[in-house]
Amino acid sequence: MFGRGKQENTYDTIVIGSGISGGWAAKEFCERGLKTLLLERGRMVEHVKDYPTELMAPWDFRYRGDLSAEIKKDNPIVDRCYAFDDGTKQFFVKDAEHPYIQEKPFDWIRGYQVGGKSLIWARQTQRWSKYEFEAPLRDGFAVDWPIRYEDLAPWYSHVEKFVGISGNRDGIENLPDSEVLPAFELNCVETHIQDAIHKNFRDRHVIVGRCAHLTEPQPIHLEQGRGKCQARNLCYRGCPYGGYFSSNSSTIPWAMRTGHLTLRPNSVVHSLIYDEEKGKATGVRVVDAVSKESTEFFANVIFVNASTLNTNLILLNSTSHRFPDGLGNDHGVLGRYIAFHNYRGSLWANFDGFNDKYYSGRRPTTAFMPSFRNVFRQEMDFLRGYMVAFSAGRAGWSRGNGNGNFGADFKDGLTKPGPWQIYMMMQGETIPKFENHVRLSRDSQDQWGVPQLITHVDYDDNDRMMLKDFLEQGEAMLNAAGCININRNDSQQSPGLDIHEMGGVRMGRDSRTSMLNMWNQVHGCPNVFVTDGSCMTSVGNQNPSLTFMALTARAANYAADRLTKDGKIE
Ligand SMILES: Cc1cc2nc3c(=O)[nH]c(=O)nc-3n(C[C@H](O)[C@H](O)[C@H](O)COP(=O)(O)OP(=O)(O)OC[C@H]3O[C@@H](n4cnc5c(N)ncnc54)[C@H](O)[C@@H]3O)c2cc1C
Repeated sequence: MFGRGKQENTYDTIVIGSGISGGWAAKEFCERGLKTLLLERGRMVEHVKDYPTELMAPWDFRYRGDLSAEIKKDNPIVDRCYAFDDGTKQFFVKDAEHPYIQEKPFDWIRGYQVGGKSLIWARQTQRWSKYEFEAPLRDGFAVDWPIRYEDLAPWYSHVEKFVGISGNRDGIENLPDSEVLPAFELNCVETHIQDAIHKNFRDRHVIVGRCAHLTEPQPIHLEQGRGKCQARNLCYRGCPYGGYFSSNSSTIPWAMRTGHLTLRPNSVVHSLIYDEEKGKATGVRVVDAVSKESTEFFANVIFVNASTLNTNLILLNSTSHRFPDGLGNDHGVLGRYIAFHNYRGSLWANFDGFNDKYYSGRRPTTAFMPSFRNVFRQEMDFLRGYMVAFSAGRAGWSRGNGNGNFGADFKDGLTKPGPWQIYMMMQGETIPKFENHVRLSRDSQDQWGVPQLITHVDYDDNDRMMLKDFLEQGEAMLNAAGCININRNDSQQSPGLDIHEMGGVRMGRDSRTSMLNMWNQVHGCPNVFVTDGSCMTSVGNQNPSLTFMALTARAANYAADRLTKDGKIE
């Protein structure tokens, strides 16, 4: 099926996937002078040029930005994602295009294009602390992380300076400070709730969210061709200012400028090639997304950054005599211990007061509370904890938009600010478990000849107890702040819709219980590195992508050190 590759198909490094983590691998390698091939299954999306809706106003869309009933009907899975609308739909995978098998319900939200989901992420960025890295060992779940916070701290700084993170230096032990640009501000009701929480709950912190937006671009950002965030809140369409971080605006053009990058869109990686004689991976098999033609590419080092579940899929599909159950899968760990974030709980409330106050402008973040449960010791009847995000706004927009008002009433509604409304949500850590897994279908393939993925991932009692605690604590905090009409909600959403799926190729010290070592190398095949979310041993409660970027930059520089020094990686 696959013809032999030629000399021109040989590179120093191959990176699979051009999203958040793959973009970072490519950037680091190219800066180190390594000839790098970046393989991307989706189409080309060039910064600015390929953002067709970036400047459109609501009235430029047929349904004012809403999707047609037909698109919704055809896409029940991706339509559940809040960011999927008429202005952004071109960056999301449609349900019918890339089928998978849900043995248990799993809303798999994907972005297959150059830039991956970096175009459509919500850009919230928090570091992990030592407490997340120590949690599995302390609390007796998963396996011990082979690294600690200190190993990653310099790489967080490295990444943050380049990405540009807005926020404050908050000095919170379990949410280490980032390298920051000026923060956005909380409004008066959020500040009021912040004060009430600080007064009534001494163990809790409320801060303004840290996010990957340029509030005051530094020379390194201007050099990338990026400018100040205009707080338009149209980010999911692609930002013509480069105000937020994406692979398209930042890492890929940066890598391209070195002259060492070959970017190859429409390249579906089928599997990795394992050479039995050499005892290492020598390349990848690629199917052209359009022509379906097969090609092989070769390199000394291969980074797999296809996003959590696709990386699992590619490795499971990379079988050989040495690895009949998938590359590196000597002990049946591959595809297992998938975890995610528990987003089920939310609360709505009103605040009666500050009626003479308003705010102007938009803001790409909210108020944010780092976890306060089980941080320093185990104290609840469930393991781990959750972060809380909340925001307050005046509800004029909601009366004008979508609740039946029309004509003069509609306009009249928009001219009045409306009551203050508060929305609060959780982001809970889930515990990786053996039974939560993905595997390959033996019967069904996609149109590129790749087996379909089967998802078998579910909540457990720990998640339900955590949800209950959040809803109680959320209500208590809103009560303490004098909020009224408090409503609790359990969305019962399926795993996956959090879009923070992680694991399956976890890091660990022991090759019998984990797939990757402390440098993200596959234990049994060290010239293959995995640094996207699939490498996560546990999932913390923080938004994960900043950690994927830091792990990627760290591993890429380790690989580059070895390649430039020894010429190979054993
Ligand atoms: C609406 C939304 C909001 C989010 N908000 C946040 C947030 O606030 N903070 C946060 O930290 N995270 C957030 N995320 C999650 C974040 O987008 C992901 O964690 C991040 O993009 C993962 O990076 P990645 O490199 O692993 O994968 P991706 O960015 O998805 O990139 C993977 C790339 O690999 C390509 N690929 C897949 N399979 C193959 C193959 N076989 N061959 C070749 N290429 C392949 C894909 O096409 C894609 O381009 C959000 C996501 C969404 C959709």
